[in-house]
Parts: sequence; structure tokens; C-alpha cells
Amino acid sequence: MMAQYLALRGEAGDCLLFYRMGDFFELFFDDARQASQILDIALTTRGEHLGQPIPMCGVPVHSAESYLARLIKAGCRVAIAEQVETPAEAKQRGGSKALVARDIVRFVTAGTLTEEALLEPRRANVLAAVCEMRGLVGIAACDISTGRMELEECAPDRLGAALARLGASEIVAPEGWEAMPEGAIARPARGFASDSGEARLKAIHGVATLDGFGLFTRTMLAAAGGLVAYLEHVGRGSLPLLLPPEARAGNAALAMDAATRASLEILEAAQGGRKGSLIDAIDRCVTGAGARQLAEDLSAPLTGAHAIAERLELVAWLHEDGLLRESLRAALRALPDLGRALGRVVAGRGSPRDLGQLRDGLAGARALHDRLGGRGDLPLLLARLLPALAGHGALVDRYDRALVPAPPTERGQGGFIAEGYDAALDELRRIAGNARRAIAALEAKYRDQTGVATLKIKHNNVLGYFVEVPARHADKLMAPDSGFSHRQTMAGAMRFNALALHAEASRITEAGAHALAAEDAHFEELVTMAIAARQAIAQTAAALARIDVAAGQAERAAEGGWARPEIRDEPCLAIEGGRHPVVEAALAAAGERFVANDCRLAPEDRLWLIGGPNMGGKSTFLRQNALIVLLAQAGGFVPAQAATIGLVDRLFSRVGASDNLARGRSTFMVEMVETAAILSQATERSFVILDEVGRGTSTYDGLALAWAVAEAVHETNRCRCLFATHYHELARLAETCEALSLHHVRAREWKGDLVLLHELADGPADRSYGLAVARLAGVPAKVIARARAVLEKLEKGRAQTGGLAAGLGDLPLFAAAFEAREEACDGLRERLRGLDLDALSPREALDMLYELKREAGTDP
Ligand code: ADP
Repeated sequence: MMAQYLALRGEAGDCLLFYRMGDFFELFFDDARQASQILDIALTTRGEHLGQPIPMCGVPVHSAESYLARLIKAGCRVAIAEQVETPAEAKQRGGSKALVARDIVRFVTAGTLTEEALLEPRRANVLAAVCEMRGLVGIAACDISTGRMELEECAPDRLGAALARLGASEIVAPEGWEAMPEGAIARPARGFASDSGEARLKAIHGVATLDGFGLFTRTMLAAAGGLVAYLEHVGRGSLPLLLPPEARAGNAALAMDAATRASLEILEAAQGGRKGSLIDAIDRCVTGAGARQLAEDLSAPLTGAHAIAERLELVAWLHEDGLLRESLRAALRALPDLGRALGRVVAGRGSPRDLGQLRDGLAGARALHDRLGGRGDLPLLLARLLPALAGHGALVDRYDRALVPAPPTERGQGGFIAEGYDAALDELRRIAGNARRAIAALEAKYRDQTGVATLKIKHNNVLGYFVEVPARHADKLMAPDSGFSHRQTMAGAMRFNALALHAEASRITEAGAHALAAEDAHFEELVTMAIAARQAIAQTAAALARIDVAAGQAERAAEGGWARPEIRDEPCLAIEGGRHPVVEAALAAAGERFVANDCRLAPEDRLWLIGGPNMGGKSTFLRQNALIVLLAQAGGFVPAQAATIGLVDRLFSRVGASDNLARGRSTFMVEMVETAAILSQATERSFVILDEVGRGTSTYDGLALAWAVAEAVHETNRCRCLFATHYHELARLAETCEALSLHHVRAREWKGDLVLLHELADGPADRSYGLAVARLAGVPAKVIARARAVLEKLEKGRAQTGGLAAGLGDLPLFAAAFEAREEACDGLRERLRGLDLDALSPREALDMLYELKREAGTDP
């Protein structure tokens, strides 16, 4: 056994090996140590290896899924080694001592799950393959639980942002690649080849060319090759559901880097988990597929006005008609998860219940189609989706006839094919049923015959049917002419066989075995039908998800009094009465009211500098506007009274250091790296929020950096920007930057207490209220008094020297500083060009050099 185990162990590579032994999966050696710790199960030993006891732990096969789920969550991958023959077969093959043959039938990894129990219903489960070719990075991503697949190509420095959008749970990359993303699994580089990628995709989809699906570059196809090769490896040669790939264009989605996504807490809150995130506050989808689509919409908002308008029209239509919305949502809520049932069926892990789900999902889709189809006022998007909801007539009819209303999750026990579908099967069942009734009748007959009232006919898996009587009555049945033959002696009871019983039991077994075989054949046939229709079924699932998203957004909008945004193709932003959906919900839960605020940005007033006390609501204001842009471009209503959104190409959100400590690099370094990305990437079409940039260093450094960053954003990037800062000194930028304006969150001191109004007002902040906030936070009065004394001293000193920003008034403007230098250089060039060197005496040349040197000395 050890030899077999070690061979499989070698094949499993860096995965844990689940080694099937009877009703358990056993783990040995280091696998056992690791798994027992993660799963908190007992570590025992079994036998010896090289003179040492072998550590072992195990999990029961019937509950293996829940243990697998925990191991996968903990970042493990698992190889499943099953018994691939029965003990009887092994005996026949190699005699009584033969070992049952085992083989790895599958690898279970985070990105290749299809089991309902292992997947989160409201989250896509993405596997991504990435590689580099000729200076470009190819990304192939799929969710095998639903079959969606997309290919993308980008510059190497955009890989991080692309992966952040995908939120992959597993990434594979060619081994030896120096730019290997963090946490990626290294796979043989030869899999990442564009020709094999193309050939595999063609073979999977049975096409001669991929052109019908979209335009794919060699780099994309190389990544696709790596992806398919990995899926084949994990499935031991069998492939899961893969739909035709879609090519993702780089600029089709609102660009957001990983830092922006994290800081806006779109799908996950800063402290981890969905609670407290944007999606948690807005998701009103009634199906898992809808929630997954919404997550995708929020991860990749659109940039095309037309596509956004289409989604908005559908949301508005459902927003207006509350009754229709409610009835649609009720219908959707009752539907099973069509896409994932399909994923399991195609992957060969489907159960009769999954087939039942396909039937119910498709029938439900058809009912929706019939309900909506008659309406004359369908929005464009819905009219386009509608045909995908019908069109499975033949399949639904067949499944309807073939399957019982609620098919079981176990295929092996049969009982899922309906009466009347197959006459032969019905007959087999009738025979078995008659035999069962006959056996019940035998019990009464045998009691009469023997006079033992406690005689029973029982059944177990080892003996089959048998007669059982208490030991003290056994004599009557032991008599040679009794018609019973002894089989087993138990404590207190004896078991017998009888001729008539044996005959009926054989009838049951035989008919049962034939019936099971018949059901199995029907199952295969039904699965084949689903596989043949997989693309159309996936489209139906996608259409249902899209409708659910729109209905959910309409519902959320109606609930919160949200508005339909107006989308424009110019760099403006006008939000009236905007709110932060997450903060508002948190406040509402505490019985408090959220104060709505306006935001108006335009080319001539595109940078808002926002001051005011800590806790005054600056961050909230910044984020709410970024979220409103994101929600609008994802095609939904927004938490505001009214909103006009000029299309944004890139969205950036940065928070000054000090809040996010646990990242290895110095937090100030991180802050500056992220700020650098904004300054190099933001365009006139971008929207940037900067929250307390420069906070992570000393006051002078911080102020200087904040000043320079604000100027650069104003002069060079020229993007729309909200800039929150506690440096009052920055207010002086308003004197030189014509498109920058000053704003503050209002606060008032009332009877010595600070009242934060969370209300945005025009003009600079008058002071920072730092001590008042500290007092509000419960810092002891003694400490506050001491701080006040220190502050007075500092301020006195500052007044004498002219303040922290003394001298800033003489600073040339950001652009002017460069212009002055450029002018000086131009002048110099001009003069050098005008010189006739041959006509110059040595003395004149020397004088000229002195003159130039003198001028350079006074150069600004
Ligand atoms: P700042 O960035 O100015 O320090 P925050 O935006 O973090 O302040 O807000 C601090 C707290 O104030 C929030 O957690 C929230 O409870 C409350 N708050 C912020 N904005 C509002 C608002 N518009 N209406 C009501 N309460 C708000």
C-alpha cells in the first residue's frame, strides 16, 4: 500500500492527497499534520515508514465537501485519489491479497470548483491565466461554475489593475516568469503557447476559426492555452463548461487600479468581507446569478454612453412600475441557479437534482418571456434579451416528462425518472413493487406457520432479506423440515433464510438492478441534451441575471429615493443632494440622519479643495461622489436628488497614509507610489479623489507635497478632482489656480462643545478644531488643557515668523516656475545662435563667458 500511496503522493505535487480507504479519505505524513491543524481534527498514526510511525488523519467521504471547503479557504489545493475498482474486482485481478487500484480522479482548487457547497452563491469564482509575450501581457479568465470566459491583453504595468478587476480566486502563470503575480501557481511554460491555445479553443467549440467570437491577439491566445492546459490537468483530462471566449477591449471599462478598488470598498470592506462594502449596501438581487452580475458591473463600469443609457432605460422602466417589478422579482426568486447547475452538469458532476434545476429554470424563463412578450413598451435592452428566455421548448418538454418533480441529489440510488416515461422501467418497478408486497405478506404467513408473533423479515446490505426471531424461539425454525435455513446467530436473535423469501428477494434485486441501469442510461441521455444546448442555456441564465440586476437596482432606487443620472460626454459633474449609500445605511441603523451635499465640477472649476475638522465628513463626501460616478456608469440609479455625470475614463481614489498599516512597505512610500500613479495616468476625462495626501510625513514635507500635487493635478492632469486636506495653507492655491475653488465641511462650537454639521459650504475652513475633536473623542480634560497651552505657544511663534506658509506668497506659480526657466534657456539659445565665433577675439570670448556665468548665478 505504501508504494501505491507514495506514487500517488508524487503525482499530487504540492496538493494535499485525499487517499480513499473505504468510507474515509485518509491523509498521511505532512499532509496529515497540515490538514489536522487547519481542520482541527485528531492526528493519529498508522503503521510505520522507515521505522517511524506514520501520522494520519481522515475525513468521512459523505461529509468530505465541508472539509474540502475549509481546506480550500485556507489556501490549500487537494488531489482526490479514489478507488477505481471494487475489492471484488481487485481479488479477481490479483488474488485475495491484491490491493484495490487507486487513481487521482480530480484536483480540487479554489479556481476550479463547481460544487454548490463549495461556492458562494453571490460571487463569481474566477480562474485566471496570465503570461507575457513581446512586451504585452495576456490574461485569460473563466468562471467554470458558469462557463464564462474572457480574454484580454494589456501593458505589463496594467496587469495589477486588470487582476484587481477580475478578483480571481486562483491565478496560474508560466514557471520562470520574472513578473509572476503574487500568489500565482507556476505551470509548465509550454502550455502558454498561442497556437495550442487557439487549437484547443477551436476544438472545444467545434469551429474552424475563432473570428466569430471576437478578435483575439496571439498574446490572448497564449494565455488561453495556459488556462485550458491547467483545466485539463486539474480535471485529469476532462474539461468543465467553457463558453465561447469574449475579447475584452482595454478601454471598454472605467479603469480603476487595485488601490482605488480597495479604498472605495466596492466588493469588499476595508476590514475584509462583504459587510460594509458598496455592493452590500445596494444589492437587492433575488438570485445568486443576479448578484454575481451586479458584482461584475460594479467591478467594470461602462465607458460608452450608449450602453449605459440602455441599462438605465431598463432600470427606469422597472422603477416606474412597482407592481410589475414586484411580480418579476417574485418569479425570479423562485428560480434555481441555472448557470451553475449547467456548470456542474457539463463538468460531469451533475446530479438528477441539477437536471431538475435546468428544467425549472428554463420553464421559469419561458413563463417570464410569455408574460413580458405581450407588452408594447419594452425597453430596448429587454427586447433584446427576451428571445433568450424562450426557445428551450423541446428540452423542457423532455425533462418534464422524464424527471420526477423533485429529483434527488444522488444519482446512484435511482428514483428520479418519472412514471410513464419509459414503459420498460415502469414494468421493472412494478415487478420489484410486487415482490416487496409479497415479502410483506410472507411475514404474516411465516408468523402463522411458526406461531412466533415476534418473527420479522428484515433487510441489510450484507445479507439482503432474512427472517429474524428471538433466540428463545429459534428452535422452531431450526427443525430440519421447517423450510428455514440458518444464516447467522446474533446476541439474542437468530437469522434464517427461506425459499419463498429468497425467490422474492431475487426478483427485487434483479428488477432493481435493471431499473437502475435503465435510469442511468436515461440520465446520460438527458445530460447529453443539456450539453448540446449549453450555449443557449448559458444565454438564458445571463438574460435572467441581467433582468434581476435591473430590477434590483430599481428596487434599491425606489427604497432610497435615488435618481436616474443623466450621462454626458463632457468633463462635468453636477450632483445635487448626493449621499453615501454605506454611511447613510449605517447612520440609519443608529437612528441618525445623513446630510446630503452637492458637488459641481466643470472645466472652469474642476478642483475642489475641501477643508474642515476631522470627522467633519470630508472623506465621506469625496467617496460618495466617486461612488455615484461608479454607480451611474455601471448603469444604475444613484443616491442623489439629481445627477449629471460627464463620462469618466479613469477613476482614482487615494487616502493619505497612516490608516493602512499592514502592507510591508512604509505607508508613506505606498502613499507616494499611489500618488505617482495618479499624476502619470489621470487625464482630462478622469475623476480623482485625494484624501489627506501628504499626511504620512512631517508637517513641512507633507504640506509641500500636498501643495505640489494639487498644483500638478490642476495644471497638468486637468482632471476633475476633490482634494481633502487639513493644511489651511493650501487655501492660498486659490489665488494662483483659476480652476480651483475652496470648500469646507461646517462645524460650530456651541457652549464649548464641537458640533459637526457634515454640511459642505463654500470658502476656506477657518480652523481645524483638532482639540475640540480630541475632546469629543474623550481625551481627558487635563491633556486637552495642556495641548491648548502648547498650541498657544506654537501659534505665537508662528505669528512672529510669519506662519508655516510664510514666504509661499513669493513662490512662482507651478507652471510659471517652469516657464521662467524655459524662457531663460530660449534666450540663451538665441544668443549663442547669433554669435559669429570666427569674428570673436579671445578677450571678447572670455568676457562673454563671464557674462553668461553671471546670469546663470541669478537664474531662478
Ligand atoms: P473626515 O474625513 O472629515 O475626518 P469622515 O468623512 O470620515 O470625516 O466622517 C466621519 C463621520 O461623520 C462618519 O463616520 C459619519 O458617521 C459622519 N458623517 C460623515 N458625513 C456625514 C453626513 N453627510 N451626514 C451625516 N453624518 C456624516
